[in-house]
Amino acid sequence: MVRLRTVKRAAGGGAGRHGADVSAGGAAGYGEASVHGAVAPRGGARYEDAFAPEAALTLDGVTRSYRRGGRSVNALDGVSLAVPRGRFLAVMGRSGSGKSTFLQCSAGLDRPTSGTVHIGGTDLAKLSEAGLTRLRRDRIGFIFQALNLVPSLSVAENTALPLLLAGARPDDPSVRERALRVLDSVGLRGRADDAPSELSGGQQQRVAIARALVTNPAVIFGDEPTGALDPATATDVLTLLRDAVDKEGHTVVMVTHDPVAASWTDEAIFIEDGRIVGRLDHPDPDTVARTMARLGER
Ligand code: ADP
Ligand code: MG
Repeated sequence: MVRLRTVKRAAGGGAGRHGADVSAGGAAGYGEASVHGAVAPRGGARYEDAFAPEAALTLDGVTRSYRRGGRSVNALDGVSLAVPRGRFLAVMGRSGSGKSTFLQCSAGLDRPTSGTVHIGGTDLAKLSEAGLTRLRRDRIGFIFQALNLVPSLSVAENTALPLLLAGARPDDPSVRERALRVLDSVGLRGRADDAPSELSGGQQQRVAIARALVTNPAVIFGDEPTGALDPATATDVLTLLRDAVDKEGHTVVMVTHDPVAASWTDEAIFIEDGRIVGRLDHPDPDTVARTMARLGER
């Protein structure tokens, strides 16, 4: 069973659409609850819904510790979170707060020291290394800041790469068809047979998104996917991710530093010292920026 409690927004705390809820209690207020400052559900038991089997990603008391200088440091410290299917989530926090560790534990790239991670109904701790590799390949999409496109493969082949790694034959027409379909959805069908180097940076990032979508994964993870892009191209990429959620029902978990990028998501969570210290529903850039500044003052 998932231990995760819904903390009601304090009375008078502003029940508006863009309510910030980084706990106001000062340093002593942080980190008491496993999930701190959760926003009360709108019009129903939202987090209970998230415990249903349709939750795309569930973390329960996830801790990841490293040994440093002979002592143990928690890069993640008892994080509990449920992300329903069809949600676009932003993960924010200062450098060193634990965002990448969160992403790596959630995506099966790293194993927690304690606690459990479920992708859909699958408990990652119960998978062998080979099983984890299969899960990453078949059920998870990744979009990194470094695009990792293979220069010697065409745009269509790069897009189809996860299918080929899963054993599909390159000459199987359904593989190309699937690649062309997702390339169409990112506006690049006409560039299928070009080399990545013939595309602009923004177009290459769109290929990376097409590749993340090609297996129809349970969760798409992005680590600063817009971090290296100019604002116009970043907007294109965020539009695509928003569409993937709204039109295709995908689930996207995106680490970002950028309040504007976060404002494209349904919910932002704020991580500090390996803990979730705040959440924003329907984040707007100003409230996100203020929340980040407040974390910075601690
Ligand atoms: P972020 O992505 O928010 O910048 P990270 O998740 O990369 O933060 O790191 C969180 C904390 O854990 C940092 O203090 C970092 O130094 C530490 N950490 C991360 N990875 C390792 C590692 N492999 N060995 C030791 N410490 C690590
Ligand atoms: Mg990081």
